[in-house]
Amino acid sequence: MPEMLASYVAGRWYTPPDGGVAVADAATGDPVAVVSSAGLDTRAAVDHARAVGGPALRGLTFPERAAALKALAAHLDSRKEAYYELSTSTGATRRDSAVDIDGGIATTFAFSGVGKREMPDGHLLVDGDAVIMGKEGTFAGRHFYTPLRGAAVQINAFNFPVWGMLEKLAPAVLAGMPSIVKPATQTAYLTAAVFRDIIDSGTLPEGAVQLICGGLGDLLDHLSGQDVIAFTGSAGTAAKVRGHDAVIKRSARFNAETDSLNCSILGPDAGSDSEEFGLFVKEVALETTVKAGQKCTAIRRAFVPAAVVDDVVSALRGRLERVVVGNPRSDTVTMGALVSLAQRDEVRGAVSALSRAAEVLVGDAERVDPVDADPQRGAFIAPIVLLCNDVDRAEPHEVEAFGPVTTIIPYASADDVVDLAARGSGSLVGSVVSHDPDFVRDVVLRTAAHHGRLLVLDRDCAAESTGHGTPMPQMVHGGPGRAGGGEELGGVRAVTHFMQRTALQGSPSAIARVLGAA
Ligand code: NAP
Repeated sequence: MPEMLASYVAGRWYTPPDGGVAVADAATGDPVAVVSSAGLDTRAAVDHARAVGGPALRGLTFPERAAALKALAAHLDSRKEAYYELSTSTGATRRDSAVDIDGGIATTFAFSGVGKREMPDGHLLVDGDAVIMGKEGTFAGRHFYTPLRGAAVQINAFNFPVWGMLEKLAPAVLAGMPSIVKPATQTAYLTAAVFRDIIDSGTLPEGAVQLICGGLGDLLDHLSGQDVIAFTGSAGTAAKVRGHDAVIKRSARFNAETDSLNCSILGPDAGSDSEEFGLFVKEVALETTVKAGQKCTAIRRAFVPAAVVDDVVSALRGRLERVVVGNPRSDTVTMGALVSLAQRDEVRGAVSALSRAAEVLVGDAERVDPVDADPQRGAFIAPIVLLCNDVDRAEPHEVEAFGPVTTIIPYASADDVVDLAARGSGSLVGSVVSHDPDFVRDVVLRTAAHHGRLLVLDRDCAAESTGHGTPMPQMVHGGPGRAGGGEELGGVRAVTHFMQRTALQGSPSAIARVLGAA
């Protein structure tokens, strides 16, 4: 019988007495862990964050919090082989695990750097200069940030059990706000293993982080205006949480990162022998197969000039037919499994919905022959490419197949592609792959409002580009509309999401006495 995951609340490990939900290995179907939060004292978790974790973190200066994050990241880095092993059960290959595990640790290091280099040596973050508002110069105002006094409840999706936790936790620690981490049940065993090391490392003060494996129960009932809910997951769950009284009536701060039909646009200048053409095909293939396409930033819509559609299809087919699907424990496998059989069924359903509007050109969602694995027990699916020639169809702009699935959509002009991009109703990321400065400028400026991040990929940056699908700690992650309307990451600004911005008004000397002369 696999282990029941323990939660960590109010300074103690808690193992529920019930049978819980069994979670299976994505590739073999063998049980990995049992998850439950039955009987967990959610009130105690919130109280502990407010009464113990908050004061302890607020007692540290920004550089001290940054140093704690650095020590934490170094500790996790020294333990990461154990995480890689567990990560295989999520269906991840070693390359996929690196994105989650090394990506999470690197993000923690990055926020340590933000705290050390970009934040003041003290407890107060002053924002901008003082503004004189009285004619005689005796009355002024200045903004400053202080940490919120509540708990930062972090609800994460299944696809990034390590990065998802650390990318929220690191800026919260730096802000001086305690975290309550709630991983998705399906991959909670990996989050729990990393979390145990966070506690064992002793790098963060008691109460700075707590963990709830399983459902949140009535926890949201205890939240109010000094608390933050940072959510990542599906739009449907986001809507439920956003509609809770904690948010609607008591103004708990709410941030959502949800699903997104991201696009990549191949420029009309990029003929099939151009460098940009090769970059585009490589990027689409990569985004389709990394984490078996279970990335919120994956390229779901590939916009291609009508004249080169056949060339793009054939180049993509060449790349994707070389992909070896199977048990990620096998050395020859280049794409692992989806996280669960239920998720595979969801993706099959989404491909079926897409194929009402588009033709499947590469792969078959119902058939795959995985290496070293039983296709009945493991959640395998082949990479799928569809082609949608009917630009009036809504499906490619509405249906998210959260797996190795992308749809090619031909376009005729810049106006056309700008309109198509907007039909995703708001995305985390878009990319423009072109070396034509006029096309790039035109498309970027007209699509920016629909995107949290835009990548211009061309021969000049390709060697160093971090790629379409990689959120960077220095840059905004989030997007309008369907993407959730939230914002994470982005350096110091990410830290301020866990703080209150206050305008202090009074005489210049009173302001200077409170905030210092900085
Ligand atoms: P999900 O089913 O919405 O679950 C997300 C989280 O919400 C899980 O921790 C889940 O816990 C929790 N949850 C479920 N019902 C809840 C409720 N009533 N109250 C509070 N929490 C609740 O999403 P998922 O299947 O894990 O993730 C896949 C989706 O996430 C995809 O659509 C993907 O696009 C999106 N995603 C977005 C980003 C981003 O950064 N924008 C990143 C990754 C994934 P349980 O697991 O215990 O049910």
